[in-house]
Amino acid sequence: MQYRLTAPAPGWTATTDVVVVGSGVAGLTVALNARKAGLRATVVTKAMLDDGSTRWAQGGIAAALGEGDTPEQHLDDTLVAGAGLCDEDAVRALVTEGPDAVRRLIAVGAAFDQDADGSILLTREGGHHRRRIAHAGGDATGAEISRALVAAVRSDPGIELIEHALVLDLLTDAEGHAAGLTLHVMGEGQRDGVGALRARAVVLATGGMGQVFSATTNPAVSTGDGVALALRAGADVADLEFVQFHPTVLWLGPDAEGQQPLVSEAVRGEGAHLVDASGERFMLGQHELAELAPRDIVAKAITRQMQLRGTEHMYLDGRHFGAEMWEHRFPTILASCRSHGIDPVTEPVPVAPAAHYASGGVRTDLSGRTSVPGLYACGEVACTGVHGANRLASNSLLEGLVFAERIAADLAARHAAGDLPERTVDVAAARGARPVPLLAPETRAEVQRLMSRGAGVLRSAASMAATAEGLARLASDARELSTEEKPADPRVETWEATNLHLVATALVAAAALRAETRGCHWREDFPERDDAHWRRHLTTTLDETGAPCVQG
Ligand SMILES: Cc1cc2nc3c(=O)[nH]c(=O)nc-3n(C[C@H](O)[C@H](O)[C@H](O)COP(=O)(O)OP(=O)(O)OC[C@H]3O[C@@H](n4cnc5c(N)ncnc54)[C@H](O)[C@@H]3O)c2cc1C
Repeated sequence: MQYRLTAPAPGWTATTDVVVVGSGVAGLTVALNARKAGLRATVVTKAMLDDGSTRWAQGGIAAALGEGDTPEQHLDDTLVAGAGLCDEDAVRALVTEGPDAVRRLIAVGAAFDQDADGSILLTREGGHHRRRIAHAGGDATGAEISRALVAAVRSDPGIELIEHALVLDLLTDAEGHAAGLTLHVMGEGQRDGVGALRARAVVLATGGMGQVFSATTNPAVSTGDGVALALRAGADVADLEFVQFHPTVLWLGPDAEGQQPLVSEAVRGEGAHLVDASGERFMLGQHELAELAPRDIVAKAITRQMQLRGTEHMYLDGRHFGAEMWEHRFPTILASCRSHGIDPVTEPVPVAPAAHYASGGVRTDLSGRTSVPGLYACGEVACTGVHGANRLASNSLLEGLVFAERIAADLAARHAAGDLPERTVDVAAARGARPVPLLAPETRAEVQRLMSRGAGVLRSAASMAATAEGLARLASDARELSTEEKPADPRVETWEATNLHLVATALVAAAALRAETRGCHWREDFPERDDAHWRRHLTTTLDETGAPCVQG
């Protein structure tokens, strides 16, 4: 059974070869490489081209580029962080193809920080035993990558760019092959409102789902739309319970909601210390890498300290860097802290964990293919198996690059073999998918509060039962509203709220089932890792009632 968001019938249609949803590192890299294979690409993006997580990435991109470093060592560090659930073949592809993928990104125009000899400067981040993080503009790596890729797609006449376009659902042909999508464009003229875009293949590159929680580093567009769309289309989604909480997000007060400023791991990589209110370092003795332990360990340690001391945050102390280093190496973070009245040069920075990265997503193989023929997923929306139960710092930009190139190679090979024909899709028939009731825009904040309260860094059977109950109540309220007499009101805010709700419900179902602590999934009632029962992936699909069904 396929489902779709309640929406008006498409009022216009257009055709392309490959439609890419999302304009972050993953989507733009797919588009650029699909073009090299002679395919027309259309990039559809929700807001402006650079509105996604990519632009916000600070620390950098991990690749074995340094002297003495090897893909094998990068692989080892990635597998350790992934806590037994990485797909080793996927990690091997990432680390061996990564260095050249970064070089190709440089060839596209991204300028990484270099030393006087022109060698790329490399820093360290949590979980890495080597300096292997390339960065740009000090701590503005994502902005530089985004700038370079946006410039490249804009200068390619074979790539069509549609901004302010919210993709709703997948269209499939009679064989069940992806054949395009429905979208809502806030445009002018002919392409305005809901339309249909036909394509030979569809690539989801919609980024993360951090907005499912109240406090997140993710921008407003990260509402998990790609995962929701894939679930409605019948695709397998995996590892949703593994949400990484970044340990050091600037604490802006108890009522802060939405996107919060990140204080990159690279600040700890350069020697800043985590301290409590009395200035005592609490990571010493907890892990051999102390402040540079993998993120889940640091996030848990901070949360434990906060519980122990009854406070809402800890501190990151980098006063010993001095003003010059802060200004030169971390200009973005310095400016962001100062704009909130905190000066890291003279005072410790208040920090607390916040939702940061979705390790799970739409399940793919090594070529980015999902379980729905012709539907690919790439970047943070995908679950390639690279991250397992926890992402190693700075592996995500790299994953976006490497697997985008792999998807483009698959599309090119299929195109050359005549296996990527034009698809015939009867748009009216495709609307036979069952429409799901829409949730009111206010639901967004309610979903976020429920999720942060019950399914955040600390989880237990009781907290997740309460969260699931709250989410179910929101859904039944929506069903009551969506009667013939009082139809739901389809628009961007209701579609996003409905996607957030579906993704949250699926996440909670997976997190409730996994009765162990592993990677970034921390169960207070099951504090140990349990390989005998749980060294396996949990896969989510929708059942015949449209509810998430988790198996594994
Ligand atoms: C503050 C911050 C710092 C980070 N630092 C690092 C770092 O140093 N190193 C690292 O490797 N990773 C880092 N990450 C993670 C990394 O930035 C992301 O995982 C990565 O950029 C994701 O790229 P992407 O292309 O998959 O998605 P994004 O860059 O998030 O792009 C998603 C795109 O999809 C579009 N979209 C979403 N839904 C729809 C829809 N329904 N219709 C149309 N378009 C849609 C969005 O508008 C956007 O264009 C950081 C993330 C954040 C938030």
